[in-house]
Formats: sequence, C-alpha cells, structure tokens
Amino acid sequence: MKKIIYIDMDGVIANFDKDAERLGNPHRPDKYVDYGNLELIPGAKDALIQLNKDFDIFIASTPPWDRPTVWGAKREWLERHFPWLKRKLILTHRKDLLIGDILIDDSRWRGQPDFKGTWLWFGTAQKCKNWKSTLELIYKNYK
Ligand SMILES: [Mg+2]
Repeated sequence: MKKIIYIDMDGVIANFDKDAERLGNPHRPDKYVDYGNLELIPGAKDALIQLNKDFDIFIASTPPWDRPTVWGAKREWLERHFPWLKRKLILTHRKDLLIGDILIDDSRWRGQPDFKGTWLWFGTAQKCKNWKSTLELIYKNYK
C-alpha cells in the first residue's frame, strides 16, 4: 500500500504571500487574500505530479472560518491547477487528526506538531526549504 501524504495549500502549493504583498501586507491577510486566484508556488506542480506516482496524496487546507466562499474557492483553485486530484481535498482546522505518513505544511498553528506521522515544516525546516529539497528528502527517507 502506498504511503499517504497530506499537502497543505497556502504557502506550500498556492502562493499566499505573494497576494498578501500585492495587498500591501495587511494585518490578518487571510481576511483579504484572493484565494481563488493565487499563483502556484515554484516547483509545486511538478512535485505533486511526481509524488502522485509513488504516494497516495491528499490536499489538507484550512480556509478562514469567517469567509465561507473561500471554502469553494479552494475547491475551484485545485480543479484549475490539479484537476487530477479529484475528491482529494480535506478542509480542516485540525491537522493533528489526519491519519497518514507525511504532512507537508508551512504552518504550525493547526495541530501540525501533533500529527502522528512525520511533519515536514515546508519553508522553515532546513531540508524542506522548497519543493526541490523536500522531494529529495522524501525520496531519500520515506519512499
Ligand atoms: Mg500553509
């Protein structure tokens, strides 16, 4: 059976920071960012195509609770960029409750440190600064 990998959206495959910058970096950018039109993070598309060959991958994202339309926008964004990830989107505020092997996530505020598998702190951990190094780490240690 293939190992299960959960992949966060904002800051991992969707470029949240770039849109926040466009808005002048407001306090609480999650209240204003245009989630439906975020750019891809460099390397994300090819990385997911590769991972999908060897792992069972799911997207795990936390949309802002007070912006219910964002829940739909995330579904549409995923269909535009990753149409082959059909029915593989999980929206949750509790990533510690996900059951699987690896969680790739740039935040630590939604239960990521308590995930029962391996949490790869994307963008922060030394070996997971970007998709290139993250893929190398996964194939070296977890395949
Ligand atoms: Mg994130």
